[in-house]
Amino acid sequence: MGQPTRPRILSGMRPTGKMHLGNYYGALDNWVRLQDEYQCHYFVADWHALTTEYEDPKDIAGYVPEMIVDWLSVGLDPEKSTIFVQSAMPEHAELYLIFGMFTPVPWLERNPTYKDQLQELSHKDLATYGFLGYPVLQAADILMYKADAVPVGIDQVPHVEMTREIARRFNHLYRPIFPEPEVLLTQVPKITGTDGRKMSKSYGNCIYLSDPPEVMLKKVRQMVTDIKRPYRRDPGEPDRCLAFPFHRLNLPQERLQEISESCRSAALGCVECKKMLARALVDNFAPIHERRAYYEMHPEAVLEVLRQGNARARHQAQQTMAEVREAIAFDLEFQLSS
Ligand code: SF4
Repeated sequence: MGQPTRPRILSGMRPTGKMHLGNYYGALDNWVRLQDEYQCHYFVADWHALTTEYEDPKDIAGYVPEMIVDWLSVGLDPEKSTIFVQSAMPEHAELYLIFGMFTPVPWLERNPTYKDQLQELSHKDLATYGFLGYPVLQAADILMYKADAVPVGIDQVPHVEMTREIARRFNHLYRPIFPEPEVLLTQVPKITGTDGRKMSKSYGNCIYLSDPPEVMLKKVRQMVTDIKRPYRRDPGEPDRCLAFPFHRLNLPQERLQEISESCRSAALGCVECKKMLARALVDNFAPIHERRAYYEMHPEAVLEVLRQGNARARHQAQQTMAEVREAIAFDLEFQLSS
């Protein structure tokens, strides 16, 4: 008897520059773990980046190999996972177009993330067809590979629900070819930047995966701690401190307990505490830095990962699109050749 097939999942990330610890703890760390349980498809969502960066898209393509180096450095394994670039698969655009024919506009208008993002990115003109329709493109990305589940944080659940609705509608209108993917709910820890705001490149408060140890040390030193603890002798409160959530992600439970108690009793000072954190970060990230050094020395290996991942994804995408065209009786090529 053969091995049971592992369920398939798909997840993507926009190429927006170097990956930081927010990306790592919020997604990549989980992606690495999922590789042992699922058939994983991880893709660079460069067309999604274009929905918001259409006025100035010149950096998007350049970020792609940089992002793949980050992914490989953290331990994504091209032997286990299919790693590919969305825009290398024109099939996604075709499926997106077909889904767009029957997706009701009110479904898109009531998408809560759409409204939030319109507000958050109010400096950009996002009153566009492409931006309104990005959940349809996401549905095409997911259903193209017939994913059984999609790993998402709680705020992304409505997108998966819309994908399910689109799959249902297609299956009902034409032929049942798409599974309805489940939500694989992921706990996303809240990661703030060194200044307390959301970790983001535009705020200049990121610790990057590519930061060498000395830069990590410097950035940890700059982290804002409990502002109600002006002097070393004052008791502190870890829940008011930006460094403590990073301890949580890097230290075992019993050490956390010790640090909390010594902070609250003022037995531990912030300088020493942040030194401990910096050491833990540098130690934990040492294997990542080692792999990064390899891939930086071997850019051709990075491109080869993409070539192979794209070829694997393309094969599956072409199969799905052949089924889709047949289901909607749009298989012109078949008619011409028969
Ligand atoms: S001792 Fe540590 S946990 Fe407590 S406030 Fe200072 S840095 Fe934060």
